[in-house]
Amino acid sequence: AIHFAGVDKRFGDTTVLRGLDFSVRKGDRVTLIGPSGSGKTTILRLVMTLEEANGGYIYIDGKPLTHHEVGGKRVALKEKHRGEMRKRIGMVFQQFNLFPNMTVLENIIEAPVHVLGVPKAAARAKAHELLAKVGLPDKADAHPSQLSGGQQQRVAIARALAMDPEILLLDEVTSALDPEVVGEVLGILTDIARDTDVTMLIVTHELQFAREVSNRVLMFDGGAIVEEGPPEELFASPQEERTKEFLSAVL
Ligand code: ATP
Repeated sequence: AIHFAGVDKRFGDTTVLRGLDFSVRKGDRVTLIGPSGSGKTTILRLVMTLEEANGGYIYIDGKPLTHHEVGGKRVALKEKHRGEMRKRIGMVFQQFNLFPNMTVLENIIEAPVHVLGVPKAAARAKAHELLAKVGLPDKADAHPSQLSGGQQQRVAIARALAMDPEILLLDEVTSALDPEVVGEVLGILTDIARDTDVTMLIVTHELQFAREVSNRVLMFDGGAIVEEGPPEELFASPQEERTKEFLSAVL
């Protein structure tokens, strides 16, 4: 479960989030939609601790992520605590972000071995299983530069799953892909959603994918939730003007 309580985020003079409150239950698949610049990616980066909030609190399964309240004051938690929290969260990025100097297998076992302390043989065995799952059983020894964008993204998905995350963050994972491979990547993610109970927080412009995978859609604008609901309801009969405008622009 993820809980945002009064979260503020600014970049210099730009306020991206102001007092944002929302919760994602364990096992929920939540898609964030909204215009460019509305703060969707920032929310995922806050959960991944790649950005730090300027105010408020974020909780994962009831535990504070980066800051907690002590005697009415907002106090930063130590890096060791953040590292422990981060282990439970996986993220897949728009630009894949694979380590270019490592093979596919090395990319996948890096964090399990070095962060979780999984023995190498076990990490390798699991990496091969995951590569089969994402349809790349024969690419273990390839380097990322030898793979297509769709293949690299499938490796990035396998890499995120190798940590057995409780939460999977997907940040516009198909935006950098050629149209003909978007379907295969979305298909793998749809299978993962069906076969696991991982909590998913998804930013995507692929409304069909949002409809298939998520049970809840949050419409953002100006760093705040404008409207929310199950995808079939929100997409078919949006209530708010801003949601209607956004949907008619992307459809
Ligand atoms: P998009 O769909 O275009 O990715 P988004 O809803 O994901 O948009 P964010 O990427 O979260 O929006 O960005 C929200 C705002 O914060 C934007 O105005 C953006 O320019 C600004 N912003 C994001 N990251 C930074 C940064 N590192 N430094 C300065 N401004 C930033």
